[in-house]
Amino acid sequence: MISNNEFSNRDKNLYFCTSNQYFMAKQEDAFKKVVSHAKEYGFIFPSSEIYDGLSAVYDYGQNGAELKNNIKQYWWKAMVQLNENIVGIDSAILMHPTTWKASGHVDAFNDPLIDNKDSKKRFRADVLIEDYCAKLEDKAQKEIDKAAKRFGDAFDKAQFEATNSRVIDYREKQKSILSRMAQSLDNNDLADVKALIEELEIADPDTGSNNWTEVRQFNLMFGTKLGASAEHAMDLYLRPETAQGIFVNFLNVQKTSRHKLPFGIAQIGKAFRNEIVARQFIFRMREFEQMEMQFFVPPGTELKFYEEWKQKRLNWHLALGLGEENYKFHDHQKLAHYANAAADIEFKFPFGFKELEGIHSRTDFDLNAHEQHSGRKLQYFDPERNENYVPYVVETSIGLDRLFLALMSNCLKDEVLEDGSERTVLSLPPALAPVKAAILPLMKKDGLGEYAEKIFDDLKYDFNLIYEDKDSIGKRYRRNDALGTPYCITVDHESLSDHTVTLRDRDTMKQERVAVSELRRIIDEKTNFRNLLSQLS
Ligand code: ATP
Repeated sequence: MISNNEFSNRDKNLYFCTSNQYFMAKQEDAFKKVVSHAKEYGFIFPSSEIYDGLSAVYDYGQNGAELKNNIKQYWWKAMVQLNENIVGIDSAILMHPTTWKASGHVDAFNDPLIDNKDSKKRFRADVLIEDYCAKLEDKAQKEIDKAAKRFGDAFDKAQFEATNSRVIDYREKQKSILSRMAQSLDNNDLADVKALIEELEIADPDTGSNNWTEVRQFNLMFGTKLGASAEHAMDLYLRPETAQGIFVNFLNVQKTSRHKLPFGIAQIGKAFRNEIVARQFIFRMREFEQMEMQFFVPPGTELKFYEEWKQKRLNWHLALGLGEENYKFHDHQKLAHYANAAADIEFKFPFGFKELEGIHSRTDFDLNAHEQHSGRKLQYFDPERNENYVPYVVETSIGLDRLFLALMSNCLKDEVLEDGSERTVLSLPPALAPVKAAILPLMKKDGLGEYAEKIFDDLKYDFNLIYEDKDSIGKRYRRNDALGTPYCITVDHESLSDHTVTLRDRDTMKQERVAVSELRRIIDEKTNFRNLLSQLS
């Protein structure tokens, strides 16, 4: 098997662009391919497509729903099943409106918004500035890569970063821009955010225009109403994060589970944000799913647990095998009002490194605020310290849809095979693959169909399978490669007499003859969550 390095027509057109344009166009192509593959193979559809869709809202199709469920299972098992001191809950999407006053979302869950007067496009002012800084970092990285090539094995990266004037300049510039932005946003000095955009000559990335409006704050929560009659209806919000459902249940869970600190509460559920800019498929949606865990710890120990969870969460990602080089930590300079430390795990999406998961040391802010607004005590009696206190919290929060996108974009590959033919393969981690095996009778007649159905009926209690008897076997293999099915099982005439089948491996495409009685063990060995989870301890 050789990789696809053929020069396509589009490549030829791009040949005449600058290398940067070429790189960006290639990235865009790769991203478009992910979007169309997701639709063609039943992973993701635009929501209410027959009415032309709803902006930044998506539906998961038959294979998407399976993949999503498997991702949830991987997270839930890693958090709840493997940790004796973490339990899981499922709280309601609708919550008492005071929840959001207490949490600060009513007053501060805003994004700074700016419009381009020429293109009429809307942007997040902070993201425009952050993207500018990311470009400075790219430049610094290029200097480092160049030097690494020049010096070979003798290259000392740390020393080069500390002494090379260009790298130092790029990084200092970034630091000063980001700290000025952080300060302006903290002081709600939106005029200075606009001034910064103007000073840096940041233009609309699509049109190059820098004819900007003023910067304004925009609250991201969706409002709704509870109650039948208009005058008595209560104003509610669709939750913008799942975390608050955990905080308001802290004592219920602590008392009924009888866990001592430190202990955690995990939850998977929908969240809703009226995002200003939502143009990157399922990366930024208006309705999405989060997998969050709040870890309650004694005051003063939170930073130790914060560091521990940063590492544990990174290991969880690395176990998926998408490549260590595709992850990095981004430590926050601008901390949210509730945090005393925060970092993102960023993933290399087709459009660059972006946040996949956040790890926050949230102090005792949320529980304190709920105590004040509800008038109820949310304290823990610590038998070792012999005192009552409001616990501190370390949060891990990952977007399920973003991980879905990370998997789809990293695992989707075009390959040119040795015989010159091509295939598209989705090399998902087998435990997450929507379908674990495809049962394929070479033909339907001569009893092959019945024999294949028997195998299906025997294995269906353990695995999600598909049975297909249409099209040539080659076409069925290709379809299952593109779906990410780890094994294809082909039933032929020999099977009827010697009870063996051909087992084809998605990644190596190797075919071997195996006994039907061995199938359960072989598929289980390949697809069991144990393969992922055992890497975590
Ligand atoms: P961003 O800076 O990208 O807007 P955030 O810092 O606001 O994200 P958090 O509030 O920390 O995000 O939410 C936790 C996680 O939820 C994020 O790491 C991300 O994976 C996911 N997430 C947040 N907003 C969205 C969205 N609009 N669509 C999909 N996933 C999201």
